[in-house]
Order: sequence, then structure tokens, then C-alpha cells
Amino acid sequence: MTTQATTHEFKAETKKLLDIVINSLYTERDVFVRELISNAADALEKFRHESLTVTEPFDGHLPLEISIELDEEKNSFIITDSGTGMSRDELENNLGTIAHSGSNTYLAELVEAAKKDVSLIGQFGVGFYSSFMAGNSVRVQTRSWDKSEGHEWVSDGTGSFTITEMPGLRRGTKIIVELKDDAKDYAQKWKVESIIKQYSAFVSFPVKLDGEVVNTVQALWTKSKSEIKDEEYNDFYKFIGNASTDPKYRLHFSADAPLAINALLFVPEENFEMFGFGKVDPGVNLYCQRILIDQHSKTILPEWLRFLKGVVDSEDLPLNISRQALQDNALVAKIRKVITKRFLKYLDEQAKSDPEKYEKFWSTFGLYLKEGATSDYEYQKEIGKLLRFESSKSDEGKVVGLADYVLRMNPDQEEIYFINGSSRAAIEAGPYVEMFKQKDIEILYTLEPIDDFVLNHLGEFDGKKLVSADGADLSLTKDDDNEDVKDGDDASEKMDKEGVEALTKWMQEVLADSISEVVVSKRLVDAPAMIVNPDGHMTSSMERIMAANRKDQGIPGMGKSKKKLEINPKNSLVTKLAELQKTDADLAKQVAQQIHDNAMIQAGLVVDPLEMVERNYKILNRVVQG
Ligand code: ADP
Ligand code: MG
Repeated sequence: MTTQATTHEFKAETKKLLDIVINSLYTERDVFVRELISNAADALEKFRHESLTVTEPFDGHLPLEISIELDEEKNSFIITDSGTGMSRDELENNLGTIAHSGSNTYLAELVEAAKKDVSLIGQFGVGFYSSFMAGNSVRVQTRSWDKSEGHEWVSDGTGSFTITEMPGLRRGTKIIVELKDDAKDYAQKWKVESIIKQYSAFVSFPVKLDGEVVNTVQALWTKSKSEIKDEEYNDFYKFIGNASTDPKYRLHFSADAPLAINALLFVPEENFEMFGFGKVDPGVNLYCQRILIDQHSKTILPEWLRFLKGVVDSEDLPLNISRQALQDNALVAKIRKVITKRFLKYLDEQAKSDPEKYEKFWSTFGLYLKEGATSDYEYQKEIGKLLRFESSKSDEGKVVGLADYVLRMNPDQEEIYFINGSSRAAIEAGPYVEMFKQKDIEILYTLEPIDDFVLNHLGEFDGKKLVSADGADLSLTKDDDNEDVKDGDDASEKMDKEGVEALTKWMQEVLADSISEVVVSKRLVDAPAMIVNPDGHMTSSMERIMAANRKDQGIPGMGKSKKKLEINPKNSLVTKLAELQKTDADLAKQVAQQIHDNAMIQAGLVVDPLEMVERNYKILNRVVQG
């Protein structure tokens, strides 16, 4: 039988990636040892899991291990595993294209990352191609556990690769890296051993170097806490998280009943989504009796905890469960709930014992918890305790929790108040906080647009309703204590009841196009007017987002709901407007419209800028003419 070699071109993205890996990342060469070991370990894990369902797996007698041989004379680095191996098609597909889905965006991100900080590369896993950092040529000899004939893949990493049939191989993969002249180090035992010790100490199969086992195979998470040193935890985290810094938090959690669970969870130092790399993959792996059944599991934790790294191991899961079946498995759902609640409780404990550290965590990862609050009803109560916001009683840039707020509430206060604004200064200059200030009631400042959605989803905390200060039905004063309120400005001539009624009626007519109703405010202190939302569930900031989204989707005419305008008859502008209306109706109309626009702007809502500027000039013109 002839075993003709076939030649194949790398895909365009692959060529680009190879070029980056070989030419930009060569200072990180050690990475290739780690990547090849990690691929070997993946193939072994996969074989171990899948062989559970096969009565007699092919070459079943081979020990599950990784073995590395170095040849200083020939300058070669050879790594062999007894994992799944690859069929001809798999060879062509897996090593000819970039494995990651959406490879083009992935590649763009990788290039960006490489520019910013080469050490970030570890987060991406440059994978198999990193072997070309050190190798002039790379040969992959492999035979699949499906027993099909073996093949050899050869490339020098430039434009193409060849595949040739190669009879007589055993199950698994052997990769021969012929080292570049300036990469001869990697044929030396001390060098390779130190890399393995640093990066691959926790591989769950024996790694042999020139015949000698150099790692200790152990499942750290199954040991008891007292036996594990901080350093071991940190090293383990760096191994599974591909990280270069220690974790920010760690939780080692074991339970026997009602479910047998061992979980080891880590919070990284950095949030990689903040670097603009797009959504990160989940970082927790699911094991059953120390056998990996789902790497980067999408099912073992809710999506909004995707920033966590770690391991979950449960003996109760069936060993031969497939990845698809995991999704609808009731036991998995139970484990997910137990671990999620435990982790959220852990965070709450941490927040109490070291608030400053928690604040840092919050500023890095708070967005994920907000995502959880809006997407996952199941954990709202727990997440509620973990939320942090600035408030009228916090220092600038400092945050408070809802539980602290409740402790500070006035004895007769029944609700928790919040107001959204683009900045602390904008909120404090606006009309919404006036009455709160005067009554010494704390108000939370929600500075991110998503915050209002979060608090709306939550609805209440500790039995107290969460209320936006731009809601229309908010009344902090009982009607009879209106007397306490000092008169605004020196508008000593108070308007009489009929005067106020006439003014509101007239303003309502003038503003009929944009306002549902003009009412007399019970809570404005100094400002002449403010916009409130008749729909108690929608705050102005939420509406802004919805309107923007609707515009994107091109659904016209589904703009804003009509607002209410509250006016303050103790404000001199308002009292004088009532007089002006009698003497100069035209100017009065313009002033009323301008008051409306100003109030809209203070609510963070959009007005027609052209119309407003034109009107504003008209008014100014009148002022300078005296
Ligand atoms: P990743 O490991 O992130 O998938 P790699 O570039 O490291 O990306 O590897 C690409 C693919 O090649 C792997 O997903 C796997 O299917 C295959 N592969 C690489 N090394 C081996 C190996 N030693 N045994 C079996 N398959 C392998
Ligand atoms: Mg890999």
C-alpha cells in the first residue's frame, strides 16, 4: 500500500496566528512546554472519561501518562501521551485551523493583548502553535482510539503542512519538536524540569521526564483544608487559571450531605472582560470522583459567575454522563444552587470582615453580580446583600451596602430611596435630592444605567421597598407638615390657591405635547420644577436605555412615555411666571417651555437641542432689551 503524503495550506487566520506566535511572542517561549503538556493532559482526560462507556478500549493496557524525552545531540524535544489521539480528519482540522470558535475576533483580541502585555497571552492559550516558537519543524505522530490507521503531520510553521499515513503506531500522540538553534535549552533536563514544576505541577497524570516522574499527581481539592498550604492553593490557581498573580479570594468548600461536593473556587485579581476581550469562558471544571467530565463547564455555575476559576467535584454524579446530558441533569442543577449560594454567602462574610478588600472586588467584579441580579431570580436575596452604591451619606467614591442603609434609616422611614445620575455632582445639583437633604434621609446614587434595572428587579430589600426618587407617587411629606418647609428664595408673596391652580392649568395647556400633567410639588425645596415618572416601574435612566435600544432596532415612534412635571409655587421664577402670563403671554409660554426643557435635562432625558437654543436666544434677547 502506498502512503502518499498530502500537502495542505494553513487557513488564513492560522497563518496570522502563527506569525504572531513565532515573531511577537518568542520571549515567552517556555509557554510551549506548558501548552503541549496541557494538550496531552486534555487528550488523556478525554480518553479516561470516554473509555468508561466502552467495554474494551483500544490499546487499553497502555498506562495513562505523559512522557517527555530530550535529545541534546539531535536538539529535539519529544512529548508522548496515551490519550485519544487523532484520526486523519481530526489531524487536518484540529491542527490546520484555530480551535476556538469565532476565531477572527479571537485573533484580533490576541493581537491587542500581545501589544498591551505579553504575559496576558497565557489567558488565551496560544495552544499547539506555540511549539513553533521553539521548533524549526514539528512532527505529530498520532493514532486515534477509534483504531483507524495512524498518521504523521509535519510542518515548519510557515505556510503549509503535510499528512502521511504511518502504520504501526500505538494509541495516542507523539510530538517531535526539532529545536531552533537559539532554543537548544529545551533539550536540557534542568530547563524543562523547572518549567514543568512551575506550570504543570498539578497535571492529573504522571509526567515523566527522561523516564522519571517529575510531578506529584494529586487532586488538591479532595485533601482536607488543614493539609493545604496557602502556597499550594495559589500555585494550583495559577495552574488552572493560567494566571500569573495570586487570586483575590478563594473558597474551599466540602459537603457530604445531602450531596457530596468538593469545590475549590478562586476569584482572579483582574477582570479580563474589562480589557475589552469580550465575554470570558467559564473557568470552573466539573469532576466526578477526580475524573474530569466537563472542562470550562457552562452548567455547573450560573453564567454570571463565569469570572470564577476552579474545580467542582461530586461523587454523586454518574461518571459516564455526557456533556449534553449535564445541561438537563437535576442533580447538576442542585449542585449549582448549593455552590452558588455558598459562594455568595462567602462573599458576604468577606465583605463584613474586610470591607476595603471587598470594595476592590466590587469595583472589579460588581458588574457580574449586577448581571446576576437582573438575570437570575433565584439568587436575588443573596446578591442584594452584596450590592454597593455611593450614597448621600458616603464619601465621594466610597460605597455603601443596602444592609448598612437599612441600619441608618430614620425611625419612620419605610422605603429605600435611590436616584440615577451620570455623576455624584450632577445628582447633588439636581432637584431630586432636595427634600431628602432637608429631611436628612439617605439616598443611594446609582451612577451606572444598569443600576436602576438591578434595583427594579430586586424590588425590595429586607422587606423595604426600593423606590426611585424620580417616581411620581413619592411623597416624603405628609400634607400637614408642609408648614415646616421654608419658603424658597424670597418669594414672600405666596401664591394663593386659585393662582396656583390657574398656573398649573395654563402650563398644562402650553406643555400638552410633551407632558401628561403639571402638578404642584410636595417635595421641591428650591428648584422651580422637576420631571417625574408616572409609571412607577420605569425610571428616567431606564427609559433612556430602552429608547436607545429601540432606536438601534429601528422601531420608530415607540419613544418615551409622557412625564409629569412637578412645579414649585414657592420658587420665585414660578410665582413671577404666573404674573408674566397675564402681561406677556408669548414670553411666558417660552419661559414655561424652557423650565420644562431644563427639568428634562436634569432628569437625564433628551430634548430637541435646536429648538431649545433658539428659544433660549429669544428669551435672552428680551432680557438684554430690559
Ligand atoms: P486547544 O487546546 O485550546 O483546543 P490547541 O491549539 O492547543 O487548542 O489544540 C488544538 C486541538 O488539537 C485540540 O483541541 C485537540 O483537538 C487537538 N490536539 C492537540 N494536541 C493533542 C493531543 N496531544 N492529543 C489529541 N488531540 C490533540
Ligand atoms: Mg491546548
